[in-house]
Amino acid sequence: MHIDRAHPRKSTCNCPFADGRRVVCKHMIALYFTAKPKAAEDFLKEVEEWEAEELEREEQHYEDLERYVKTLSKTELQEQLLSALIELEELQNWG
Ligand SMILES: [Zn+2]
Repeated sequence: MHIDRAHPRKSTCNCPFADGRRVVCKHMIALYFTAKPKAAEDFLKEVEEWEAEELEREEQHYEDLERYVKTLSKTELQEQLLSALIELEELQNWG
């Protein structure tokens, strides 16, 4: 586990949530609080800002998807829906 104070998103942790991903988990936050209580507020602020950016990106993505879906014809929609449903079933079968 490693905490990068200047760049919280570059911190790493071996827990299932954060392992191999660029996310901030509760362990990083806990360690950061313990190590440097005064800077913890800045750290959390940056995490919150990043999460807000992520949310914005996600909303933008869904808007793009919606625009795309609206350009499709009925036949295309039927084909896309069918393949999406098949994909979903395959994903569930793997679980
Ligand atoms: Zn962790």
